Amino acid sequence: MTQLPNIDAAGLARMVQISRVLNSTTELSTLLNQIIREAATLTRTEAASILLLDPNTRQLHFKASSNNIPPQMANMPVSLDDSIAGAILKADEPMIIPDVTQDPRWNKDVDKAINFQTKAILGVPMRNVDQEPVGVIEAINKLDGAGFTPQDVETLTILADIAGVAVEKARLIEELQQANAELSELDQLKTDFIAIASHELRTPLSVILGYVSFLREEASPAMMDQFDSVLQAAVHLRSLIQDMLNLRYVDAGVTALDLEVVDLGRLVRDLALDEDETAVAKAQTITVTVPDEPLPIRVDKPMIEVIISNLLSNAIKFTPQNGRVDITLRRQGSEVWFTMIDNGIGIPKDQLDRIFKRFYQVESPLRRHHEGMGLGLSIAKELVELHNGRIWAETLTEGSKFTMVLPLHATAGI
Ligand code: ADP
Repeated sequence: MTQLPNIDAAGLARMVQISRVLNSTTELSTLLNQIIREAATLTRTEAASILLLDPNTRQLHFKASSNNIPPQMANMPVSLDDSIAGAILKADEPMIIPDVTQDPRWNKDVDKAINFQTKAILGVPMRNVDQEPVGVIEAINKLDGAGFTPQDVETLTILADIAGVAVEKARLIEELQQANAELSELDQLKTDFIAIASHELRTPLSVILGYVSFLREEASPAMMDQFDSVLQAAVHLRSLIQDMLNLRYVDAGVTALDLEVVDLGRLVRDLALDEDETAVAKAQTITVTVPDEPLPIRVDKPMIEVIISNLLSNAIKFTPQNGRVDITLRRQGSEVWFTMIDNGIGIPKDQLDRIFKRFYQVESPLRRHHEGMGLGLSIAKELVELHNGRIWAETLTEGSKFTMVLPLHATAGI
């Protein structure tokens, strides 16, 4: 805009109000209808319409009009080269056509399709924040039959400036929403696939496990090692499948939780974490420190066990032979803090948040030989959050520390 518009205080206040309304509308068709309503009211005209520029085809399309536009017309392109709207957009300035019947660019089909008679048009271009063309607003036929005034031109130009930015924003939001919907659909497909695959894999795996255990009992000492390897691999496969099944549980959300009040201290003691077979095999020392006072929490018990088991299996996995894992429980105000410290290979500081994302694994030569799918911590985090808790990881001078915080249940004595 090169010149300041000649607008009085009341007009300015009206424009500010319109700007507020248009900028708070993010649904494109609602927004377009608001714009044409304002355009017709401000210019005191019979009707108004909006044509938007398709950025790909560089053609205009009728998108809204005070006279209902038949759907087939909304899809009909309006050429930039031989239409009044096209001329306004290309000239990039307002245009008054006092008598459309005298203008060769006038297309009578539009009037016929909507059963309307256009006499005069005031059209102004709409631009986005970067001053690129977005479309055209047309005000049609002054109500009093008189001609369009410079005041009409100014008012519609200001409206077009506000509208252009709002339309662009609404279009971007629609594109984002569409992209988001496509992503959610993909995510759902992935979740469904995981659910079906894990479910289908479980049955043949139980058969394998059953027969291998049986055959191992009958095996000659010479064959024992081979059967042990098969059994170990099958058990590992079972834990991977269990992770996938847990994922489905997490996706079901809070409604899937079967809540009961338990004492976290007792739950942890009952798990006998210090006797973990894998840790024993690696000659690792696991200590568990639980206070004497009760620590009541209202949780889905098997899910809390899944969280603790995921944390412990990581601590054992990423800690070498003869290492240590120290587990501590303590009350902190109205919360219970569960910490697990290992003296293993540690986690790079810049990955501390990412390890809680699904399928994320820290890439490093040290870790490459560790098995897993990168699901354990994401499941743990989602489950903790379903219980209104928090979980995070820290890097220590040697090893890692995981902290899970859960709200204490407000009833005394269990
Ligand atoms: P998985 O263990 O199946 O790879 P997780 O989601 O449980 O998947 O863990 C994600 C990643 O976080 C692991 O691959 C590992 O790189 C890192 N990590 C988790 N726990 C520890 C730990 N105690 N010490 C070192 N790294 C860890």
